[in-house]
Amino acid sequence: MLDYKQEIERRRTFAIISHPDAGKTTLTEKLLLYGGAIQQAGMVKGKRNMRHAVSDWMEIEKQRGISVTSSVMQFAYNNFCINILDTPGHQDFSEDTYRTLMAADSAVMVIDAGKGVEKQTRKLFKVCTLRNIPIFTFINKMDRDARSPYDLTEQIEEELGIKTYAVNWPIGSGRDFQGVYDRAAKKILTFTAEETANGAHQVAESASDLSDPKLAGLLGDDLLATLRDDVELLDGAGEEFSLEDVRQGKLSPVFFGSALTNFGVEPFLQEFLRMTTPPLPRESTAGTVNPTDPDFSAFVFKIQANMNKAHRDRVAFMRICSGEFDRGMEVMHMQGGRKMKLMQPQQLMAEQREVIDHAYAGDIIGVFDPGVFSIGDTLCSPAKKFTFGGIPTFAPEHFSRVSPVDTMKRKQFVKGITQIAQEGAIQIFQELNGSMEEVIVGVVGVLQFEVLEYRLKNEYKVDIRMESLPHEYIRWIQNEDLDPKTLDLTSDTRCIQDLKGSHLLLFVSEWNISWAIDHNKGLHLSEFSNGES
Ligand code: GDP
Repeated sequence: MLDYKQEIERRRTFAIISHPDAGKTTLTEKLLLYGGAIQQAGMVKGKRNMRHAVSDWMEIEKQRGISVTSSVMQFAYNNFCINILDTPGHQDFSEDTYRTLMAADSAVMVIDAGKGVEKQTRKLFKVCTLRNIPIFTFINKMDRDARSPYDLTEQIEEELGIKTYAVNWPIGSGRDFQGVYDRAAKKILTFTAEETANGAHQVAESASDLSDPKLAGLLGDDLLATLRDDVELLDGAGEEFSLEDVRQGKLSPVFFGSALTNFGVEPFLQEFLRMTTPPLPRESTAGTVNPTDPDFSAFVFKIQANMNKAHRDRVAFMRICSGEFDRGMEVMHMQGGRKMKLMQPQQLMAEQREVIDHAYAGDIIGVFDPGVFSIGDTLCSPAKKFTFGGIPTFAPEHFSRVSPVDTMKRKQFVKGITQIAQEGAIQIFQELNGSMEEVIVGVVGVLQFEVLEYRLKNEYKVDIRMESLPHEYIRWIQNEDLDPKTLDLTSDTRCIQDLKGSHLLLFVSEWNISWAIDHNKGLHLSEFSNGES
C-alpha cells in the first residue's frame, strides 16, 4: 500500500480544452485506452455527431451522469494516477472553462491541424493563459491535410502570447503523412496507416534515426530534405527548451499527432507526465497549503443540478488541495460556517461513476449538494480552518429580461432560475424594487440564454419570455449610501440591483460609462460586486 504522500505524488490533474470537433473526445478516449481504463475506442460518451455547443449541451443533457463533458475522468498509467477535466468547447462557456482550469494543475489544448486556433475559441484558449499554468498543445489530425507547422506554431504564439517549443515535428501531412521527428531522441516515429486504420487498438510506433540510410527510401527524397532543413532551422532558430518556462506557463510544448489513428498519443502522454508536476501548493488565508499537508482541504469549482433526472440531485465538484479524503469524515464548510459530512462522494472512472472511499490531493470528487454550496467555497478540516481565494466571476456582457409565460408557474420559475444562477451558469438581477417574477439575466456568452431556456423548460417545466436588452457593460456602484435615483445618467443607462441589494448600472457603451463618471462627482464604479476592477 502506498502512503497518502506517495498517492499525492503520483497524481496529475489537467484540463483539456479544444474548439468543438478538434478531437478532444477522441484524444481523451485514446489516453484512457493507454491507461487500460477502457478496452476499445468508442466508449467515451462524447459529443459525437453534435455540431454546435447548444446541441452539444442538449445531447449532454440526455446523457447526464456519464458524459465526459460534465465531469472528470481518472485513470492510471505507469504508476501515475491521472485526472482529466473536460471543458465545454465553445467560447460562450469560457467562464466554465476558467473555473475548471482553477481545479487543474495544467492544461492540454487540442488544435485541429487543418484549422489552427479557430476564431470562435480564441477567447477560450486565451482564458487558459490567464492562470499561468503549464499549457501543452496537441496539434491533431495530421493524417489529414494540415496547415504548415510553422504557421500553426506562429499562430499560437501570436494569438495567445505564449512561446512554443515543438517537441516533435511532423513529416508531411494528410496522405503524405509519414510520422514525426522526435527532437530530443533525434528519432523518427513512422506512421503506418494500415496498422492504425480503425484506431481501435494501441499501435506500435517504430523509430529510426535521421542519419539512417534507409530513410530516403522510407520518406522519399523531398520529405527527407524538408525534414532535414526543418530540424536544422528549429535547432538553430527555434525557442530553447526550458522546463522552468513550461511550468510557469510561458512556453507551450507542442506535439503533432493524430488521435483518431492513435499516432503520437502515447509519446505525448509520456512527455506530458515527465514535464508536469504533482499537485501544487495553493494560497489560503492561513498561508500556503501544501498538498501533502495531512489535513484535508478542497474547494468547489463547479455545481451541476439535475445530473440524474430521476433523482433531481445536485452535485458539487470539488478539487482536493491537501491531505486525504475519507468517506464519512467530517469536514468544515467555511462559507456555511458549519461541520458536515460529504454525502455520496463520487468519482468518474472511464465510463462509470463510482462511490469512493478515499481520494487524495489532486483528485476531483463530486458530492451530493443539498443546496448549501456555492462556487469557490472552501472545505477543510475542523481542526485547521482557512479559506482559499474565491473564483472570480466574469462580468456578463449580454442581458435579457426574463419572466415565466404562465404566471401560475412563478414558484418553479424562481426555483429554477435561482438554482441555475447558483451553479454559476448565469447571473441574475432585479429592477429596483422589482420582484423575482421578472428578472434581468446576465451572461458571458449568448448561448447561455439558450441553455437557460432549455433547462427551465426541461428541468422545471417553465416556458419563459425573454427580451434582450441593448446593454453590454455592467458596473457596481461602490458608494455605499448613494441613492441611485439621484444620479445624472444618459437615458439608455439602466439602474438595477443584485440579489444582495447592491446597486449597479448597465451601460450600452463605454462612452456612457465615462459620461456617468464625468457627470456624477465622486461616483465610484467597479466591474465586480466586491469592488475589484
Ligand atoms: P471534440 O468535439 O473535440 O471532442 O472532437 P471529437 O473527438 O468528437 O472529433 C471530431 C471528429 O473528428 C470525429 O469525427 C473524429 O473521428 C474526428 N477526428 C478526431 N481526431 C482525428 C484525427 O486525428 N484524424 C482524423 N482524420 N479525424 C479525427
